[in-house]
Amino acid sequence: MSSATDKNAAPPLPDPLRVPVADSHTHLDMQSGTVEEGLAKAASVGVTTVVQVGCDVRGSQWAADTAAAHDNVHAAVALHPNEAPRIVHGDPDGWSRQGAREPLGDAGLDAALAEIDRLAALPHVKAVGETGLDYFRTGEGGKEAQDRSFRAHIEIAKRHGKALVIHDRDAHADVLRVLKEEGAPERTVFHCYSGDAEMAEICARAGYFMSFAGNVTFKNAQDLRDAVAVAPLELLLVETDAPFLTPAPYRGRPNAPYLIPVTVRAMAAVRGIDEDALATALGANTARAFGY
Ligand SMILES: [Zn+2]
Ligand SMILES: [Zn+2]
Repeated sequence: MSSATDKNAAPPLPDPLRVPVADSHTHLDMQSGTVEEGLAKAASVGVTTVVQVGCDVRGSQWAADTAAAHDNVHAAVALHPNEAPRIVHGDPDGWSRQGAREPLGDAGLDAALAEIDRLAALPHVKAVGETGLDYFRTGEGGKEAQDRSFRAHIEIAKRHGKALVIHDRDAHADVLRVLKEEGAPERTVFHCYSGDAEMAEICARAGYFMSFAGNVTFKNAQDLRDAVAVAPLELLLVETDAPFLTPAPYRGRPNAPYLIPVTVRAMAAVRGIDEDALATALGANTARAFGY
């Protein structure tokens, strides 16, 4: 099979954006190639800034180090909503990247949260996240640890004056409720926004940013496109969540920040606005959301 038709091959470079934007959520540490290669490829099509997101203590330290080493990389640090229950209850099947793990209990979670708190104070760390609730991967038994971790991350973000990056999978109502109960930080971003138009109106009233990923291009994602259409322009962000959620027509192939233009164009088409006008808004919104 030639690499051009290989389903695992990197999609081709899209036409460059004329107005630069940021990938508001990516995982460079899970992508192939070096950080420098990934950033250069992204910059060549107008994706000049990325937010690198950590999902555990080690990944968060890596995000902070990578942001310190590159002017155009900003870091977000957290225990992913699926990581918190694994720390408390263990991970005998080794689903997480670290392989099988022993349960560390509530004390283990507190120790990991203390590390996130330490990293959140660093100047290159612009956000606390991704945190939130994931009822898709975490079952009933992990809910308590997940809820406790989410609330702790909200407190850390507020205390350090950093943005909060929310991961919400099949948990819209509870995520919104916990944010209300704890009091959301001034800048809150719903990463890989997965709600419908009605929820977008709730987020808009609360001033939450909504960051759309490549799945907005999927055929079955009309709810997401409806949300793009009704969200206020000044609250829209774009992201890859790479290596996941590669936009159509490259679905299933490896994603990376250089594919942001594909999603930007799809969003511009939904809103019926010029690609440059949308890119201008996205660039300004991301800088405002993360405070860089
Ligand atoms: Zn996520
Ligand atoms: Zn992510």
